[in-house]
Amino acid sequence: MRIDLHSHSTASDGTDSPSALVRAAAEAGLDVVALTDHDTTTGWDEAAAATPSGLRLVRGMEMSCTGRGEDGAPVAVHLLAYLFDPDDPDFVVELGRLRGERVSRIRTMAERMADDGLPIDVDAVLAQAGPAAGRPHLARALVDAGVVATVGDAFAELLSPRGRYYVSKADTPLADAVRMVTAAGGVTVIAHARARARGRLLALDHIEELAEIGLGGLEADHPDHSDADARLMRDMAERLGLFVTGSSDYHGRNKDIALGRFTTDPGAYEALLDRAKGVEVVVG
Ligand code: AMP
Ligand code: ZN
Ligand code: FE
Ligand code: FE
Repeated sequence: MRIDLHSHSTASDGTDSPSALVRAAAEAGLDVVALTDHDTTTGWDEAAAATPSGLRLVRGMEMSCTGRGEDGAPVAVHLLAYLFDPDDPDFVVELGRLRGERVSRIRTMAERMADDGLPIDVDAVLAQAGPAAGRPHLARALVDAGVVATVGDAFAELLSPRGRYYVSKADTPLADAVRMVTAAGGVTVIAHARARARGRLLALDHIEELAEIGLGGLEADHPDHSDADARLMRDMAERLGLFVTGSSDYHGRNKDIALGRFTTDPGAYEALLDRAKGVEVVVG
């Protein structure tokens, strides 16, 4: 079984439509794929309807959270959430707030670029990006306008937390997010907790606190993790009784990583299914 539990579509900042993504997953030889767009479930229905025979679709999301960094200051953290009830009222309200933060933050960043004379059409970027707007949308616009050569360059030079145009947003505190997803019948996994290139790291003892309130797993194998960091996540998961996932974090043409680049062991997938009570896996 080949299982990839983290991917993005045009419902957020990937470049494959949800239906193209599930077809690509089948073509890549996956047995299970999770669609985990940022702060939205709008891709779920299209992906479910298009799931090819032989593929299983895990409906999920990657939630924008804030945690305690190793230095004690707040740090951005991504929380993967799987198989939760997308109509849970409290969760619906919080996700709407997060998308509002996304759009207003990308607007501010784009306006600052335009004010500096960069050839960025603020309204066009926002229209193209949609309700789950993210920095990759701005990166693409900067590439298309010839400001930078690649999406990676856009992040390195302009969009990273150390970049000239970075603006933060008010994300959900991690413990609140774990409780909300769990209350909606879902299962949580901390995404790429050791992705150093993105900035400061989440404090490891914060992960221990989350394990006590229902965190399900840790993503260990990920394109942004070194071998040593993946091992650290595996050891920590074992110590805390969490399951371990591996995934590509596929973004289509917005990142140079193929579906199935890293995968999850069937035992961890079973552990995830055992805990999920919100919605079922879609069997194609
Ligand atoms: P945002 O949601 O606006 O905070 O942007 C985060 C998204 O940008 C995530 O999906 C990351 O995968 C992506 N990202 C972060 N750093 C880079 C990078 N250096 N190159 C390409 N994509 C990146
Ligand atoms: Zn993304
Ligand atoms: Fe992420
Ligand atoms: Fe992601």
